[in-house]
Amino acid sequence: MHLSRFPRLRFGHLPTPLEPLPNLTRLLGGPRLWIKRDDCTGLATGGNKTRKLEFLVGDALARGCDTLITQGAVQTNHGRQTAAIAARLGLRCILLLEHRVATDEVEYLRNGNTLLDRLFGAELRELPAGVDMNAAMEPVAEEVRRGGGEPYLIPGGGSNEIGALGYANCALELVHQANEQGLRIDHIVHATGSAGTQAGLVAGLAAMNTRIPVLGIGVRAPRERQEAMVHALACAVAERLGAKGGIERTEVRANCEYVGDGYGIPTPAMVEAVQLFARLEGILLDPVYTGKGAAGLLDLVRKGFFEKDANVVFLHTGGSAGLFAYRRTFEAATDRTKPARLPQ
Ligand SMILES: *Cc1c(COP(=O)(O)O)cnc(C)c1O
Repeated sequence: MHLSRFPRLRFGHLPTPLEPLPNLTRLLGGPRLWIKRDDCTGLATGGNKTRKLEFLVGDALARGCDTLITQGAVQTNHGRQTAAIAARLGLRCILLLEHRVATDEVEYLRNGNTLLDRLFGAELRELPAGVDMNAAMEPVAEEVRRGGGEPYLIPGGGSNEIGALGYANCALELVHQANEQGLRIDHIVHATGSAGTQAGLVAGLAAMNTRIPVLGIGVRAPRERQEAMVHALACAVAERLGAKGGIERTEVRANCEYVGDGYGIPTPAMVEAVQLFARLEGILLDPVYTGKGAAGLLDLVRKGFFEKDANVVFLHTGGSAGLFAYRRTFEAATDRTKPARLPQ
């Protein structure tokens, strides 16, 4: 796997730390939990889209583009990171925001990521729920071209075979760190949405012939669809990387039992996971992705899904800016619950 073959800009703060989660491990009585801190990638409060954008924006500049167009839900973390790198590079940035979560709460609509999007000078355009968002970028691109600009379209979540290279790179980085620390990784767990993160990881691990099992915790689609999406993209990335043997369908595993009522809709287990990570480890998760991902991790640990002596790495994909869009959810919860205490 030779990633220098692909255009790339370097703006992520890499490598991100790989750290133990001693208090959660103690509370749960094993397995040994670790965290890969991709919430610390450095770009505008960090997150997983930074690694993807290194390759996507590298490609955009190689093609002479001057305008980044992308899309997501109103509180898209991907949009916020795209807006930030566009600002740094002096590129125009247009974000299409889908009202995917049915709410008229002002915190959701104006605080968190959207506040930051505006701060970075991105142009925001809002669309109703259910619109084909990738298709909606086409007329915007045409409009940019008519104005003399050169648009670069980034799919939702930066998830195509270019963006996913960022997570092949993360796989390389993580395995290198584990080798240096003498850590045997038995499982990787993370939140999966638009599929680029898991696809890049799986393809990167396969290209190194490492084949550490990766479990994606779904936040939107049902399992069959999520796994099919990840598998298709992982195959495309593996081919791009020149990985022999491709990716078996069985190497792609997702658990979509923790979505609750839908994308971006809080669940009690999400709130519990966000509180536990905050109170036991001083780490901020987010309400849409990592909170549900960690809820899945905690539940699976409690059910004995992982061997007690296993090393399980939770990939923290970022998103804490979204907490400020969900003030009422967490305020209500902290009013109700006592602080978590470790067993003495
Ligand atoms: C986008 C995102 C994810 C999901 O990553 P995909 O590559 O879209 O599957 C997970 N966590 C956070 C915080 C995100 O913003």
